Amino acid sequence: MNLEQQLIQYRRELHRFPELSMQEYQTTQRIRTWLSEAGITILDLPLKTGVVAEVRGSLPGATIALRADIDALPIVEQSGVEFSSENPGVMHACGHDFHTAVMVGAAILLQQEREQMRGTVRFLFQPAEEDANGAKWLTEQGAMEAIQAVFGFHNRPNLPVGVIGVREGALMASVDRFELTITGISGHAGMPENCIDPIAIGSQIVMALQTIVSRRISSLDNAVISVTRFSAGNTWNVIPGEAHLEGTVRTFQKDVRARISELMRELIENIAAANGAKVQFKWNECLPMVNNSSLFTSIIKQVANEAGLRVVEAERSLGGEDFAYFQALVPGFFLWIGVDGDQEWHHPAYRLSEAALEISARYWALLARAVLEKGI
Ligand SMILES: [Zn+2]
Ligand SMILES: [Zn+2]
Repeated sequence: MNLEQQLIQYRRELHRFPELSMQEYQTTQRIRTWLSEAGITILDLPLKTGVVAEVRGSLPGATIALRADIDALPIVEQSGVEFSSENPGVMHACGHDFHTAVMVGAAILLQQEREQMRGTVRFLFQPAEEDANGAKWLTEQGAMEAIQAVFGFHNRPNLPVGVIGVREGALMASVDRFELTITGISGHAGMPENCIDPIAIGSQIVMALQTIVSRRISSLDNAVISVTRFSAGNTWNVIPGEAHLEGTVRTFQKDVRARISELMRELIENIAAANGAKVQFKWNECLPMVNNSSLFTSIIKQVANEAGLRVVEAERSLGGEDFAYFQALVPGFFLWIGVDGDQEWHHPAYRLSEAALEISARYWALLARAVLEKGI
């Protein structure tokens, strides 16, 4: 079996047996088996799921990491492919099966070349990207020790096979979550003058929050504020005592991120006070932005040209990606790789082209060699 056939087989096996975040037990076992069969060293870290492995070159050099995420989503598959999910209600709808197979392929290639290779390539097969906890957790288990640079990618359905998207600086947005509880005074719906209505106040807050992006943030910056839950009351003739709201904020600028939480707090507390209500505002920082280091832009493009791949400027995404945690520790770069899909990520009919598997594995092996040859 040649490499391409082997990677197609690996990817299909992962696709048939998808597992949710932090439950990737069989996936972990499969990756361990494939790497072991290729003679690749698996590091002995205290991992519940996920695999950390290394290919050590014969020549001295730096240590870099290549990362693939391995988890799937709680989606009922409707892709119609013959190797559709056999785990009901779970689906590789974000293409992490593809990411995993590609990085196993890169590890196999580098293992074959290790006599001529400089330095060490550590492979991070990371669990739980979808719940945004895996990268941090893997780091806490020691996976990033001695790493000097980190690289990763996401498949991109709207790019054709043979194309990679590259962008220096911010590529994917920071992700924050907010929650607020408005406490008013409950009472008879016919006599609102005796109540403080948290629904009316919450509605003012929802509308006022929309003015932060349009009126308080420069139009040269970017941000999104979405209120995604508004719950209050349980019947038609009682004004409730409380309303609960939550939502998310996304941006590509660090200073905008800090400023938005302050502007939101000010607006929310003042609207509540003006209406005689109390409010509790909670801001939870979820993920920093994926921020690509200028150290690697030219080598990434140069190796792509050598590998016959076409480079385009990567479109930014307001989605979050916990690869950002690794980049907060060491410089790194995150790419898009074209897979010629017909649906966006997380769609029940999500499909990608397997023609991208082998070329992506070869690209990562070449890039790792080139980065280590050049030095960091
Ligand atoms: Zn996803
Ligand atoms: Zn994903």
